[in-house]
Amino acid sequence: MRLSRYFLPVLKETPAEAQIASHRLMLRAGMIRQQAAGIYSWLPLGLRVLRRIEAIVHEEQARVGHIPMLMPTLQPADLWRESGRYDDYGQEMLRITDRHKRDLLYGPTNEEMITDIFRAHVGSYRELPLTLYHIQWKFRDEIRPRFGVMRGREFLMKDGYTFDVDRDGALHAYNRHMLAYLRTYERMGLTAIPMRAASGPIGGDDTHEFLVLASTGESEVFYDQAVCDLALGDREVDHDDPAAVRAVCDEFTQLYARTDETHDEAAFAAVPEDRRRVGRGIEVGQIFYFGTKYSEPMGATVVTPDGARVPVHMGSHGIGVSRLAGAIIEASHDARGIIWPEGVTPFHVGIVNVKQGDMAADSACDGIVNALTARGLEPLYDDRDERAGAKFATMDLIGLPWRITVGPRGLAQGLVELTCRRTGQAEEMSPEAAVARVA
Ligand code: ATP
Ligand code: MG
Ligand code: MG
Ligand code: MG
Repeated sequence: MRLSRYFLPVLKETPAEAQIASHRLMLRAGMIRQQAAGIYSWLPLGLRVLRRIEAIVHEEQARVGHIPMLMPTLQPADLWRESGRYDDYGQEMLRITDRHKRDLLYGPTNEEMITDIFRAHVGSYRELPLTLYHIQWKFRDEIRPRFGVMRGREFLMKDGYTFDVDRDGALHAYNRHMLAYLRTYERMGLTAIPMRAASGPIGGDDTHEFLVLASTGESEVFYDQAVCDLALGDREVDHDDPAAVRAVCDEFTQLYARTDETHDEAAFAAVPEDRRRVGRGIEVGQIFYFGTKYSEPMGATVVTPDGARVPVHMGSHGIGVSRLAGAIIEASHDARGIIWPEGVTPFHVGIVNVKQGDMAADSACDGIVNALTARGLEPLYDDRDERAGAKFATMDLIGLPWRITVGPRGLAQGLVELTCRRTGQAEEMSPEAAVARVA
């Protein structure tokens, strides 16, 4: 992509309304624009990040055998009357009436709708286990939308729903989600700690939230410092083996890690004092096992091997896809701007031509763009007629992991400069070597 032909409305001034770094940086880097309180347009750079986050979520759901689908944003109120939540949900639910005076709502979550789909099409234990998920926009009329996309009113969520014949099956599905989520967050460069949580309006008796530690997080968290050292890495786990999956979950949940809602001073006191931490965290996901809370009132049943008809055991599992864009920035930025982890960066590498119009520099840049593209990478080439300093500042702000700087002086010796955004380290090398290094 040539920057001269792209749409990257970078802001020079720091927007006054933004209180936290990720919000400021997303606005300044031209990723988002607020259209109403808590409602955002995703500008081209922001959309690229959002799509990469989504792609990781999809890949990790596919890895553990979950099936993607898509449910609508608008839902009939009647479904929610069946579960009793139409009245319970309160003011966070955006209620809409259509021209025929039918009550609709903009879905804040999809338990009722998926249960309706299930009861229409599934009737036997033979069709279980089943996990369906989608990534769709949600609406919650948050009383205080703030921090940009972190607490929006319209936001993108991955929500997955599990159906099992009994509690054991459902708990395996729960654990399998924990495994998939751990890998998902790790691939985004995040340490997201599963913490025992309280259930809220989704209801249920087993639930963990995943929290990214950040001083600007909205949740107070209490944890054993040792949880921060746990990592899944690239270990292979058979997601169909309940014991193997459980072993991973046990490893990640045995150390003390709780939010203020479930915090227990006595249990916390058992953590060695030098490892006890109190801090703040951003909730980037949550998993719930809630048994038959929806299947019973809504009549979602299956026939068991011995011919009995029982309500199906369910769970729901959510990832805050749009919130993650902000959370990743909170966890990875410096005074000059964003520092994207490789897994979610909007472009893989930035190319800065310090002397636009110089024949050697222009053609070297074109060559580098072509070589990178041929390797399947997406470079962003700053070919604008701008000072080098302004180009560097833009690249630092938008945070691409690598920058290749091309100028006539270096080229005279056959060299360009490769700079790592995270460490700031710069090295001179041939254009071919630079391409090979970032590929
Ligand atoms: P919170 O405690 O932050 O209000 P929640 O517990 O109400 O979130 P869930 O119902 O667990 O949210 O939804 C799943 C995920 O969706 C959350 O873990 C979070 O990452 C994301 N999410 C929830 N509300 C918002 C919002 N208003 N804006 C952006 N993301 C959100
Ligand atoms: Mg909420
Ligand atoms: Mg919450
Ligand atoms: Mg939650």
